[in-house]
Amino acid sequence: MAKYIFITGGVISSLGKGITSASIGKILESRGLKVTLMKLDPYINVDPGTMNPYQHGEVYVTEDGAETDLDLGHYERFINTSMTKFNNLTTGQVYNSVIAKERRGDYLGKTIQVIPHITNEIKERIRRVGDISKADIVLVEIGGTVGDIESLPFLEAARQFSHDLGKGNVVYIHLTLVPYIKCSEEVKTKPTQHSVGTLREIGIQPDILICRTEKPLSDELKEKISLFCNIRKEAVIENKDVNSIYEIPIILKNQILDEIILGHFNLISKPSDLKHWEKDVVEKVTSPKHKVTVALVGKYIALQDAYKSIYEALSHAGIANDARVEVERIDSEDIQKLGADKCLRKISGILVPGGFGYRGIEGKIRAIKFARENRLPFLGLCLGMQCAVIEFARNCCGLKDANSTEFKPKARYPVISLLEEQRKVNNLGGTMRLGAYPCRIKNNSLAFSLYGRALIHERHRHRYEFNNKYRKLLTKKGLVFSGIYPKDNLAEIVEIKGHPYFIAVQFHPEFKSKPDNAHPLFKGFIKAALERGLEG
Ligand code: GLN
Repeated sequence: MAKYIFITGGVISSLGKGITSASIGKILESRGLKVTLMKLDPYINVDPGTMNPYQHGEVYVTEDGAETDLDLGHYERFINTSMTKFNNLTTGQVYNSVIAKERRGDYLGKTIQVIPHITNEIKERIRRVGDISKADIVLVEIGGTVGDIESLPFLEAARQFSHDLGKGNVVYIHLTLVPYIKCSEEVKTKPTQHSVGTLREIGIQPDILICRTEKPLSDELKEKISLFCNIRKEAVIENKDVNSIYEIPIILKNQILDEIILGHFNLISKPSDLKHWEKDVVEKVTSPKHKVTVALVGKYIALQDAYKSIYEALSHAGIANDARVEVERIDSEDIQKLGADKCLRKISGILVPGGFGYRGIEGKIRAIKFARENRLPFLGLCLGMQCAVIEFARNCCGLKDANSTEFKPKARYPVISLLEEQRKVNNLGGTMRLGAYPCRIKNNSLAFSLYGRALIHERHRHRYEFNNKYRKLLTKKGLVFSGIYPKDNLAEIVEIKGHPYFIAVQFHPEFKSKPDNAHPLFKGFIKAALERGLEG
């Protein structure tokens, strides 16, 4: 039977609960244990697929095609277990399922209540992940901040776990903020005391406290937190601000967090070994030899979380090329207003990410034209590929009004359009082409030289496709269709021969990049950008 670790957050949101959870998973995995992670999201949406990126940040897509919280991206980047649709649970899914059971009559005439029906459903779904994954340890991150109304059923279910499985099979970790007050030069523990107090009212006494802090926590302070929060002093762990998120597993391991957890579970395993991580990830990311600046031309640049996996994949590509990657975030509407020349000076590469809707599209197309004409390395992802095709059709094939039917339903040259089966779809949630699909790569292409093999699997999240009616003409004018989904003959990768690095893909490679195994398309992009930088 799996052991369970529940991770809650207190005081404020955005403390890095997802990264902390992933880091704990990493240390435990390095001890030879099989680990998996789960994220419980208190919102009522069934999944984040229909949410605006400004509300939610990136939607992370799993191999099996679930649209999930971006924390699952952190989990996959830190540990080796793949995430599935079962690893992200929302209030919406829980109620959906309970109401469906009630309509079927499964509850035999009972009144359906939060306790026990909702909490039982939550517990069952957590246990199911433990059973299916055959993990030794399941880490369950509870979204939101302790004290929120929305997360109460999740916390109650977490509390019941130690009743159901026995105290020795469950660990509660609470992540809090210990703020530093500049004018009085003091570190304050009161918010942490209150947050632990609130958890206790719910019936959960945390076993371990992880304190986010700007300043180191003195022994005295740890003693104080220990006393007031009723937590052993060695289980008060300091989580000081760091330069790279990839340092966190090392920081936690140095405070023997893994020993404390395994001690609680009475588990014995080999010592943790993070040497490879330390040498090949942390050292490389904190002291790189080279530097390169690339532009991300998008719509949601003001929000760090909107393109989370892309920023991470760029940093992995930096690690692989021993370079610090500076990302200049450029609003595509600024390119529309000011012109590509003005916005894209001193840039060694251009990346156009995925997205939805017409706003900002013309700026993206101009940025791509600039990359093509100036032989600047270019990587287009999903919508980025669709824009590259539109640009090529308009400016290299004489199809002046080429467009996607997403932006112009009656476009004269619909080079990007809906497939027949997508035309019949009415619901927005979960109805796109989602998850991993195979792609066959053409010999002698840039894609083949990057991947080094002919068959790949990449994750998708889009509705529109390249319109094969235009394949012959575009090929004749020099666009290479180097990756195809064989079953439906769909274009997956396009590139331009003779350009130093111009490649655009219908899928999302960013979801599969790892800090110690950069994705080949990103690695090649940064390599080409570095070469371009040297030229410039
Ligand atoms: N809006 C485009 C489509 O639905 C691209 C989606 C994306 O970039 N993820 O096909």
